[in-house]
Amino acid sequence: TLGEDQLVVEDLSVNYGRIEAIRGVSFRVPERGIATLIGANGAGKTTTLKTISGLRAVRTGRILFEGEDITDIPSYKLVKRGLCQAPEGRGTFVGMTVEENLDMGAYTRADRKTKGYRDDLDRVFSLFPRLKERRSQYAGTMSGGEQQMLAIGRALMSRPRVLLLDEPSMGLAPKLIQQIFSIIVEINNQGTTVLLVEQNALQALRTADHAYVLETGEVVRSGPADELAADDSIRAAYLGGD
Ligand code: ATP
Repeated sequence: TLGEDQLVVEDLSVNYGRIEAIRGVSFRVPERGIATLIGANGAGKTTTLKTISGLRAVRTGRILFEGEDITDIPSYKLVKRGLCQAPEGRGTFVGMTVEENLDMGAYTRADRKTKGYRDDLDRVFSLFPRLKERRSQYAGTMSGGEQQMLAIGRALMSRPRVLLLDEPSMGLAPKLIQQIFSIIVEINNQGTTVLLVEQNALQALRTADHAYVLETGEVVRSGPADELAADDSIRAAYLGGD
């Protein structure tokens, strides 16, 4: 069951110089829910995520995490507080092994190398058995899909209560895409709230509880994900009309 709104975005506007990337964006992510932001290329999805995770400054609006205003809090502090974005695209440390990358993900934690740390490593390895098999391999020598998994695994090592994911399916083969989405559901079932940004709208709507549609920097539709997935105009615009 879904609880209180854990993440609340209110009237958020962000500029790049004079370009308005997003305008008056508002949405909520309930505790233990999966929300998705869908929309075309350039709609403002990445900007929204980066702003929440403290990587971009806001022009107007505010962001609340568990009831506290986090609008101007930098990324590394948010990670400590329990809100973490998996790095965009692959974003792994290519010259480090899988295990060293996962270790870096736990850097903000006091219990590094203790039982809590080992439990989390076990959790990541059970979600991604491939990473366990390759724990001593350099990240840079792995496939795109494996690096994507490593990026998510690394974020999980900070034990986030809210996990932000930017296009986790990007560039993956269809079989791997299915796998990544079912792992996202499993992460959520284990108690982590998820905010998912996707261009793969169909998969995103199948995975999420609630969806927001961004168009040229504004939220133009929102609703339960299954309702949007069944909506004719959404299907025509984002799901190839099938
Ligand atoms: P994509 O799926 O391509 O990442 P998106 O929905 O995530 O698209 P954003 O990347 O957030 O969209 O971009 C929103 C708007 O801001 C676009 O018009 C884009 O051109 C512009 N923009 C993004 N990054 C910059 C930047 N660094 N400098 C200037 N404009 C930018």
